[in-house]
Amino acid sequence: MNRVKLLDYEIDTFNFDEAAAYALELEQQEKVSQVVTINPEMFDCAKVDSEFSDILRTAEMVIPDGVGVKIGLKILGKNVDRIAGVDFAKKMIEKSAQNNLPIALIGAKPEVVEKACENLKNEIENLNIVYSHDGYFQENNTILNELKNTGARLVLVALGSPKQEKFIKEARQILPYGLMIGVGGSFDVWSGMVERAPEIYQKLGIEWLYRTVKQPERFKRIFPTLPLFVLRVIKEKIRGK
Ligand code: UDP
Repeated sequence: MNRVKLLDYEIDTFNFDEAAAYALELEQQEKVSQVVTINPEMFDCAKVDSEFSDILRTAEMVIPDGVGVKIGLKILGKNVDRIAGVDFAKKMIEKSAQNNLPIALIGAKPEVVEKACENLKNEIENLNIVYSHDGYFQENNTILNELKNTGARLVLVALGSPKQEKFIKEARQILPYGLMIGVGGSFDVWSGMVERAPEIYQKLGIEWLYRTVKQPERFKRIFPTLPLFVLRVIKEKIRGK
């Protein structure tokens, strides 16, 4: 397995198809595995949140989502594919359907998760959704105990980061098996409630630019995160870490 170190965290350098193939293997094992799709904001979060930092170190897969992570690795001389979390999660749903593996969706607003399930079922043949729940619950345990009895092999958790990664950490103690991925705003996209950037933006890795123009309030989320992240990587490189 190829991993490279970026600001003290190991990042997987699979291409898209390799990542999906490896994740399918994990999904079929008799243990719980966690996939984190990492972006520069999450590195910032890990700096101040030791629980989250530990999760990044123990996750079975940490794949570069944001274009910032791709730039960071490039500065260190590594060329890696950026794997958009929303595309990766969709691929895993398709693979689960092809392999008769049941899936669960947890997160987003009730009408969003419901519509996302409906759209996915219409689009993907043989899809078996055994559990779904919105993301506005109080007790993790209640949801996890319900989930435990469903036999889900792929569990997608859309609570935003770091909430979803912490939920998955708890799930690891309770569920018998399954591949769990934190998928951020993916259900909003699949429900059709949030539009994805046109393909050209996706190809160029500048979806964030499109989203920022459409929702200017996002500007303070990505700025100054991205330039500061790039600076941190450059500093560490100079220090020879
Ligand atoms: N969300 C949720 N419960 C919460 C907070 C957020 O289900 O307590 C959902 C929210 O409805 C959205 C998703 O989590 O569908 C995260 O969205 P966001 O775009 O913030 O995530 P990102 O991809 O930027 O991490």
